[in-house]
Amino acid sequence: HGAEPGRHLPLTSTGLGRIGFPAGRVRARLCPMGSKKKDSAEGAPLSELLRLPHGAVDMASLDARATPGYPGKGKEDAPVHTAGLGRRLSDLQEMLYAGGRAAPEVSPRVLVVLQGMDTSGKGGVIRHAIGLVDPQGVDLTSFKAPSEEERKHHYLWRIRNALPRPGQIGIFDRSHYEDVLVVRVESLVPEDVWSTRYDEINEFEAGLVAEGYKLVKCMLNVSFDEQKARLAERLADPTKYWKYNPGDVDARKKWPAYMEAYAAALEKCNTEAAPWFVIPSDRKWYRNWAVAELLRETLAGMGLAWPAADFDVAVEKKRVAQS
Ligand code: AMP
Ligand code: MG
Repeated sequence: HGAEPGRHLPLTSTGLGRIGFPAGRVRARLCPMGSKKKDSAEGAPLSELLRLPHGAVDMASLDARATPGYPGKGKEDAPVHTAGLGRRLSDLQEMLYAGGRAAPEVSPRVLVVLQGMDTSGKGGVIRHAIGLVDPQGVDLTSFKAPSEEERKHHYLWRIRNALPRPGQIGIFDRSHYEDVLVVRVESLVPEDVWSTRYDEINEFEAGLVAEGYKLVKCMLNVSFDEQKARLAERLADPTKYWKYNPGDVDARKKWPAYMEAYAAALEKCNTEAAPWFVIPSDRKWYRNWAVAELLRETLAGMGLAWPAADFDVAVEKKRVAQS
């Protein structure tokens, strides 16, 4: 996969390189208050660049090779940028964790939802972006096809049970969105059942936000061609056989139906309370950097602070000195 992301950046009249979304739709979103922290190359926070605009979603128009907001040159400097980000992310995560220990009842919680087709890199993001922070502060759940026990309950039951504890960063590797994605494409329940779930999911997520959860919903957007290349790579390397699942090819054959289902989920569940971010994911180094940066921006925007001591610091200093 070539580097040189800059060459693919068409500039809109606002001067912002925009490739993830069609230019016309983007402009309106980009000028709101203008005072947010600037941390990406194009001047706007990454959360604004990757935020899915409201309205109809056309999956084919979302460029999976784009690299919006990336502050460096490309693949060659990604390790440096990602590592620098890791230190800041790690400090913020520690502050979140400390707050959760000090005051669990009022502590904010973060939930990162990762969705994407097979090979889009949910696992890679967890290793390379989430892996930048202390594993003690991460509540990770991977959702598979529901177990017999899970199938006895409402589809949100297992989701509620997996919500992050106070001060934790929750990571969902797949999520309740599978219940309007694979379930819709494979007709695992009738249409009159899955079609009511979008509103139900919006209500559920709004409830979480009202309770103090901060949701970061990421759709890892991999292209049809790149998926093929990644599946082929897995078959070419015995150390990657374990990642290969013959069933992925069956899902691949239903790509248009999956894209339709993704478009519906993105469009119908793109709420103010819990918006969608679409992460161009054909370049792994960009994808990993982008999720780490999105998480960093999220934590930085939460107004976290180190908890005050619940003891007399001067007295304790003396006690330690005299001990
Ligand atoms: P992987 O993420 O590669 O380990 O695969 C997990 C599999 O579980 C995928 O094929 C998903 O489509 C499937 N899965 C996850 N959630 C559900 C669900 N609610 N209903 C049916 N299949 C699901
Ligand atoms: Mg898989």
